[in-house]
Amino acid sequence: MARGKRAVVVGAGAVGIAAARLLARQGAAVTLIDPARAIGGAWRAFEAEPGADVEEQGLRFDRGFRVGESTGDARLDHALFGSLDLEWRRSPGYAREGHVVGGRLSTHARCPDARAFGEAVAARALIEIHGARPDALAVDLAATLRARFGPTLTETLYRPAFHKLFGVDLETLAPEAGRGRIPSRVTLTDHGQTERHLRESSALRARLAHPSSRGLRAPGQATLVPARGPAEGWIRAGLADLARDPSVSVRPGARLASVRRRGASVDAVILDGGELIPTSCLVWTRSAASLLRATHLATATPRLPARDVALVHLVADVEPATDVVRAQLYDEPAQIASAVFYRELRPAASALERRAVTCEVLLDPHAPLDERALSQAALAELCEVGLMPAGARLERAWFERFSGALPIPTVEVGQADQRARLAVGELTNVALLPGGSDAPLRCTLRAADREVSRLLGTSPLSRAA
Ligand SMILES: Cc1cc2nc3c(=O)[nH]c(=O)nc-3n(C[C@H](O)[C@H](O)[C@H](O)COP(=O)(O)OP(=O)(O)OC[C@H]3O[C@@H](n4cnc5c(N)ncnc54)[C@H](O)[C@@H]3O)c2cc1C
Repeated sequence: MARGKRAVVVGAGAVGIAAARLLARQGAAVTLIDPARAIGGAWRAFEAEPGADVEEQGLRFDRGFRVGESTGDARLDHALFGSLDLEWRRSPGYAREGHVVGGRLSTHARCPDARAFGEAVAARALIEIHGARPDALAVDLAATLRARFGPTLTETLYRPAFHKLFGVDLETLAPEAGRGRIPSRVTLTDHGQTERHLRESSALRARLAHPSSRGLRAPGQATLVPARGPAEGWIRAGLADLARDPSVSVRPGARLASVRRRGASVDAVILDGGELIPTSCLVWTRSAASLLRATHLATATPRLPARDVALVHLVADVEPATDVVRAQLYDEPAQIASAVFYRELRPAASALERRAVTCEVLLDPHAPLDERALSQAALAELCEVGLMPAGARLERAWFERFSGALPIPTVEVGQADQRARLAVGELTNVALLPGGSDAPLRCTLRAADREVSRLLGTSPLSRAA
């Protein structure tokens, strides 16, 4: 136990709340700070009309986060999920999801891992290539992609992703594929299969340049699904658990201004407004680059290319035509990546929510955006592939944008992050636990267990006797 230790956790999303609970469980006094007034990070529910009587009007949406991921360790799972006043069911992989490829829906397919984004992009690229007629392999792929996705996405997303996986430029990729140097079939509908293809191809393996490619996800990862209600239940139950502990202080609306350093450690954080919180250790759930700025270890951190993700919450005049909970969409228009259907996620949903669908949309950060047109296009695509009844009309739509949510997987991004992590590594009492879309949540939660124990000088829960 670590009685007498004080910890500050920065960022009250899924990772910060989990880290705070682990710290408190090991006996530390914890302050959890977040600049947002409504805490919970990306997993918290979305109020379509802030200020409205949301319960009555039924305008409270969860964002479609499907699951809490099992960490793969029974003790840690128990501490983070099982110890809460919440019922879970275990689901092997992501059951009952569907994939739409080429306009057809398959509900038997398993979900590709969104976090293995570079691989997904490349797998999609292979579909592009192999879906084309053999003579089309000779075409200029760069020109084809530019015509289809526009110059920004082609240059900032596809070109680096292709280069990362194949070590060749767009202009030479199609001829390479034609010579059989790229596997003949990679499917997006089973990430395990995608992964096996990538692993088994020695030509590809040698070319995987980006550090994140080394941790390709094992197939069949178990997931923990709240037995009732949305995934946000985990966040709310975690916050309620923290509220019961008198040595924990949760501070919404608290923005960190800087940290005070003493040699190689941080001994206090300073909030906007000047309040100073002494601490024996710091858990940082944002990026390494943002910690460098706060600790003044480096004044200039590079701007990395990133892609935006938007969630469009649609309400149509009819219910979805399918029982599928979540569908991945890989066809036109290409920006729409997946859709979540609420009637399965929220059994107790109001009539309005049964007609609601959330679409995850990949956005070109530099392109002009017409939210209404994009919402219409999303609904039209759902109708086209049969997920919504033909002729469904859009009644209302709400739009949320996550800027820079998907870092584009280039070698430079990996190297810049590596440099930032090395610099942060100089601080002995700081744990860096960036979650977000860059790391699978289960890996971050396991890292939280290890790091909390390191900071407190105790044994990780996952290794406790
Ligand atoms: C559209 C989308 C869909 C996703 N779908 C899934 C999914 O289905 N399943 C899944 O497991 N993961 C999914 N992810 C990844 C998801 O982001 C993570 O699982 C989870 O949110 C990570 O939690 P976090 O605590 O790292 O980040 P967040 O939940 O983003 O929380 C970060 C917190 O830090 C706070 N913060 C920001 N800046 C500062 C600062 N300077 N100081 C202090 N606090 C700060 C924010 O206010 C926020 O509360 C998705 C991500 C996106 C964008």
